[in-house]
Amino acid sequence: MQKVAFVGYRGMVGSVLMERMRAENDFKGFEPFFASTSQAGTKAPDIGGAPGQSLPPVADAHDFDFLSGMDIIVTCQGSGYTQKMHPALKASGWNGYWIDAASALRMNDDSIIVLDPVNRHVIDKAIDAGIKNYIGGNCTVSLMLMAIGTLFKQGYIEWMTSMTYQAASGAGAKNMRELVAQMKMIGDRSAGLLADPGAAILELDRHVLATMTSSEFETENFGAPLAGNLLPWIDAGMADGRTKEEWKGFAETNKILENTPPIPIDGICVRIGAMRCHSQAMTIKLTKDIPVQDISTMIAESNEWVRVVPNVRETVVRDLTPAAVTGKLEIPVGRIRKLGMGGQYLGLFTVGDQLLWGAAEPVRRMLNILLGRV
Ligand code: NAP
Repeated sequence: MQKVAFVGYRGMVGSVLMERMRAENDFKGFEPFFASTSQAGTKAPDIGGAPGQSLPPVADAHDFDFLSGMDIIVTCQGSGYTQKMHPALKASGWNGYWIDAASALRMNDDSIIVLDPVNRHVIDKAIDAGIKNYIGGNCTVSLMLMAIGTLFKQGYIEWMTSMTYQAASGAGAKNMRELVAQMKMIGDRSAGLLADPGAAILELDRHVLATMTSSEFETENFGAPLAGNLLPWIDAGMADGRTKEEWKGFAETNKILENTPPIPIDGICVRIGAMRCHSQAMTIKLTKDIPVQDISTMIAESNEWVRVVPNVRETVVRDLTPAAVTGKLEIPVGRIRKLGMGGQYLGLFTVGDQLLWGAAEPVRRMLNILLGRV
């Protein structure tokens, strides 16, 4: 039986991965092991196994001998861990499969970015060619390709911009807590004015701003207020003025689709005060004028998770929002319409749970592909 180690099972992506694997009854047909950088020796997580079935205690994720004995390592621990352990394991001659949610190895020539509903043929070819590293894509890239990958594949996209609205949870658990703490402080300090229906609205406005800019406002993780605000910068800056998050939209999309020459893709990535789920507004220059109805049909039929939302206020505000999508595998796509610039210019909006299709789900499915189960 194949031995599979899960590193980073406690983090946000790792927890969602565990939840999905339990829900799909995936913990069978292989021997699972769990490893942590901080919890070695503790009890392994509940994987919904048979009563009395015992798992070995959590291993030290830096234990080289333990990792070397694995056939497959699945990690959701982060790029720092990958950069430390992966080269050392490879240098020692370890020849197992490495499945990773972090970005560190994504653009390497000997790595495949996995999103099997979109690039299963690339994955199968790589397995046959002996490639061992299978890496989940950037969350907004994976969600965008689940939504409109079919338009790329059919050669209908000349160029595209993606303006993103990314949730606090994309930055990790601490940032999520910080957003709620910020909301609480704004609410607590405005309670008196809110309770008085006669209070002047500009007084409430000034009060909220004074709270957000006060020295007691918690901004340690985001570096600025996010509640009542937005932050048009995600990840590190690059020499050409883009952020790394913006660059990934171009680089990873073209790598996943094996586009040569690459299709121009650019945009501005923005952190907003949503808890979970990333949203994106696209402007697409089509290679030809295709009717909106045909585009909607192509998108709707491209995979079993995508849903076209009719361009009607009631359905849009109900179904095309982060709150509507949280915890779901569905990928709604809406506001599909031709833009005022002409028939080849298409606008649309999409939302997806960045912890599911944006992170844990492609990793979960990749493990099943390697185990020969799909
Ligand atoms: P995270 O929540 O910060 O978890 C990473 C690690 O932090 C855990 O495995 C755990 O490792 C440690 N940790 C420390 N204190 C913890 C606590 N109180 N609760 C749980 N874990 C704690 O990171 P993440 O958001 O899952 O991201 C993991 C990787 O996936 C990153 O490379 C990230 O870029 C990538 N990714 C994230 C998202 C997203 O939406 N968050 C989307 C796509 C890709 P130990 O058990 O070793 O202590």
